[in-house]
Amino acid sequence: MIIRFFCGGIAGNRGGVGFVFRGLGWRTEGGGCFEVVLMVGRCVFLRGMAGGMSEGRGEGGRGLTWNPVTGCTKVSPACKNCYAERLAKRWQALDVPGYANGFALTLHPERLGQPGRRKRPTFFFANSMSDLFHADVPDDFLDAVMEVMRRAPWHTFMVLTKRAARLPVFFASRRCPPNLWLGVTVEDRSHGVPRMDWLREVDAPLRMVNMEPLLEDLGELDLSGVDWVMVGGETGPAARPMRREWVMGVRDQAVAAGVPFCFSKWGEWGPDGVRRSRRENGRLLEGRVWDERPVAAWPAVSEDREPAQFLLDF
Ligand code: SF4
Repeated sequence: MIIRFFCGGIAGNRGGVGFVFRGLGWRTEGGGCFEVVLMVGRCVFLRGMAGGMSEGRGEGGRGLTWNPVTGCTKVSPACKNCYAERLAKRWQALDVPGYANGFALTLHPERLGQPGRRKRPTFFFANSMSDLFHADVPDDFLDAVMEVMRRAPWHTFMVLTKRAARLPVFFASRRCPPNLWLGVTVEDRSHGVPRMDWLREVDAPLRMVNMEPLLEDLGELDLSGVDWVMVGGETGPAARPMRREWVMGVRDQAVAAGVPFCFSKWGEWGPDGVRRSRRENGRLLEGRVWDERPVAAWPAVSEDREPAQFLLDF
């Protein structure tokens, strides 16, 4: 870790007193700040979030997030315990740059140049702190984000949305960047499953379905046109349980359809319905790890970890 300059501060926060230390450098691109936040009463560790580009969070976190938009509004049951809302409000209280508006939707045009300045091929989770296809993100800003991707073909970008109805409308007159993995969240039958139809309408280089948090049995699925299915349980203090048979139902259909299947985690609730730590619950399904990948489209990444690990960290 290199800290080229240092300033310190103390900020009040609901959970106690926070100590904020800032510096430049270390895995932070585009001139943004690197932040370490140590809090009394509630331990928090942030890595480079202030500059708009940061390492993926989680243990062993690698890869980068890039947030040209922050903030959002809730749109379906998957949003109930939104981690982005928790983090944005916490960072607002701690005066973290970029989060002055808390969780209110905010465009950050000054961050558009960040991926292009990074020369090492990288897998980006684009907009981990918002929903890029939110109705309040104008088409011209979306165009600018897509152009950033197009102009940085050495990178791969992943975008997940719950506003899938906007996808076919937006891309009706535009081509997807060739390095964009486009995905939708599918948490239940009524809100989530219809998103797959909208995703299928887009000629994306890779279409992924992220069933995290999986909240119910999804029944029979149409997995045509889907390149990757990920399933995971919820984490956080208010996490909802995920039943083993719901996961198995998806896995069996993915296997039958020949769609790569990845099981990321049980989350706070184990397959036995018992609440314990995410680490203890692990990610074994029927005694094995499911880490199947859309191999043909796997990006070249010179980071010291693979994209799948990055996704699992989120
Ligand atoms: S769409 Fe995503 S970022 Fe927006 S509220 Fe829902 S979970 Fe949070």
